Amino acid sequence: MQQLKVYKFGGASVRDDVSLRQVASIIRSAATSPLVVVLSAMGKTTNALEKITDKVFVKEDPLPDIDHLYAYHLSICRNVFPPEHTVFRELDSHFSSLRSACITKQHLGYNALYDSLVSFGEKFSTCILHHFLLSNGIENNLLDSTELVKTDECFRAANVDWILTRVVIRKAINPSAPGIWVVQGFIGSSLTGQTITLGREGSDYSAAIYASALDAREVTIWKDVPGVLNADPAESTATVKFDRMPYQEALELAFYGAKVIHPKTIKPLENKNIELLVKPFSDPLAPGTLISSDPELYPQACSAIWKREQILFTLRPRDLSFISEAHVHGIMGALALLGIHQNLMQSSALHFSFCCDYRTDIVKEITEALGEAYHILHNQGLSLLTLRHFSEEDIQLHAASSALLMQQMSRVTYQALMKEMH
Ligand code: ADP
Ligand code: ASP
Ligand code: MG
Repeated sequence: MQQLKVYKFGGASVRDDVSLRQVASIIRSAATSPLVVVLSAMGKTTNALEKITDKVFVKEDPLPDIDHLYAYHLSICRNVFPPEHTVFRELDSHFSSLRSACITKQHLGYNALYDSLVSFGEKFSTCILHHFLLSNGIENNLLDSTELVKTDECFRAANVDWILTRVVIRKAINPSAPGIWVVQGFIGSSLTGQTITLGREGSDYSAAIYASALDAREVTIWKDVPGVLNADPAESTATVKFDRMPYQEALELAFYGAKVIHPKTIKPLENKNIELLVKPFSDPLAPGTLISSDPELYPQACSAIWKREQILFTLRPRDLSFISEAHVHGIMGALALLGIHQNLMQSSALHFSFCCDYRTDIVKEITEALGEAYHILHNQGLSLLTLRHFSEEDIQLHAASSALLMQQMSRVTYQALMKEMH
């Protein structure tokens, strides 16, 4: 018996009946080893559920949006199941639970409400995939990640209780027995049974959680790209695919904002030396990118990562004192309390600057926290470029024509904050 593998499919891979068939065919070809299939919500379901959550929170009627989402799932099912199939009853029951939750959970705070409603997307998708695989003669067990992934109650970004999660997952899945297990990505539950989510795009992380708990041989995340590229193809037309990448490099790229892998995915895999493959969903035999303990990055191309919608704050002490360690300590402490992550910072004699992702009310939040001690200026509408393994030509190519507000470089990483050109 081969060692267990984990496959993760994202929303784009299950957005319609055609992609659902492709998922089934990929799973069929892997069926010789024990396999855990981690699935995201279908298409843009999570965005739709966020909108529903917002409506419930402000006491607007969410039912038209729920009906719309139901119609979308129903239309996929109608294309792949006969009319009397049991999947229709189960889907109905999930949607009834969502409608009830919109009433019974209405009293919760925003983040807890968000998790209890947004988590439904993965329940719909796994219910459909489970039945679709069965109807294609692929035996599989549908499990519930809210019973298997145990966390704290940090809603929308829950922290995994690794020891308990390992025990619970291993009770439900025997990694050395043949079989296919279908589970929801993105969701879990706290020790008191509250449903949680792991953060947007968190299904990649779920795949790593299952792989770690089961000491899997490898994880494959199936994407709409040929593998990890040296730039987001949505940003750049000329991209290079990496064939091999060390864990460390994948961590760095994810940290600086490469959206292809959720940043929390790599560490649990690295800890157990579990290989991560990023492969193209549309071409399963293509090699993709292998992320492993192999220290070689191949090819040695420069990576460019853009973080859009940045805001730069520049602080000057009102008492005209020099910027000291105590100032930096105070400013960083305030950011930590506000849950704001700085993406780039710089200090001079009288000024301390940092940039971060823009969010509504951020200027007010920073002013309230630091305005008494500092004059505060801000610039909005900025982009942060990060280059890894850069040369002078790479800087010229990406950053030369833009208005720079701040730049920094180490031997491996170059960063520049600039005005958005589009
Ligand atoms: P999924 O829903 O399957 O998790 P995502 O949309 O989250 O898929 O991730 C795939 C997307 O990541 C691609 O469509 C691509 O636009 C984007 N992306 C960003 N940076 C990179 C990169 N360096 N290499 C490949 N894709 C990238
Ligand atoms: N469905 C969730 C999201 O869209 C999780 C994921 O797809 O990874 O963020
Ligand atoms: Mg994703």
